[in-house]
Amino acid sequence: MSVALTLVKPSLLPSLFEQARHGLWMALEALGAWLLADFITGLVHWWEDAYAQAEWPVLGPLVAEPNLLHHRDPRAMTRLPWWKNVDVPVAAGGIALGVLAAFHALSWPLVLAILLAAFTNLVHRWAHQSPAENGRVISWMQEKGLIQSRAQHALHHRWPRKTHYCPLTNTLNPVLERVGFWRGLERLILRLTGLRRRKEPKLDRAA
Ligand SMILES: [Zn+2]
Ligand SMILES: [Zn+2]
Repeated sequence: MSVALTLVKPSLLPSLFEQARHGLWMALEALGAWLLADFITGLVHWWEDAYAQAEWPVLGPLVAEPNLLHHRDPRAMTRLPWWKNVDVPVAAGGIALGVLAAFHALSWPLVLAILLAAFTNLVHRWAHQSPAENGRVISWMQEKGLIQSRAQHALHHRWPRKTHYCPLTNTLNPVLERVGFWRGLERLILRLTGLRRRKEPKLDRAA
């Protein structure tokens, strides 16, 4: 054995077990970030559907009007350049990162979750495009459940559009619907504040 190796304490050598544990933990954190991004974007989507009003200043034209248009004409977003689907979420994500950085509250899983959430509307766009429009790679990711399938997002667009708000994965929606999460949240808000869900006209085109 060389002198150099004998000088290194065995306890300082990372064992295979420790490396595997570290890798597994990082994979779990990345998975958590993926699900957190799905939940954040689902929460914002639910809030838009339930409470956003077109008459509001700033948020009305910025958020409520595109939301109402999307329910009337789900394919309208696919006729825009892709970056117009993510301009508001990317700006919001940038602000969120800035605020968290100011409070020294950033961690890599949180940064990953915010970045994923900022671009999740692209996954939403792909859910409204045909396989021919999406191409092989995106269609494969949808089929394998790596991103939300077109079939699962179509469940949200069924009248009265009160379910399946999360747009990134196929994982969270079934769980949240089973426990009645969104209905419970609306009941809680009604009880605490008297605020009722927005009335929305039934003016659907095909999703
Ligand atoms: Zn919606
Ligand atoms: Zn949609």
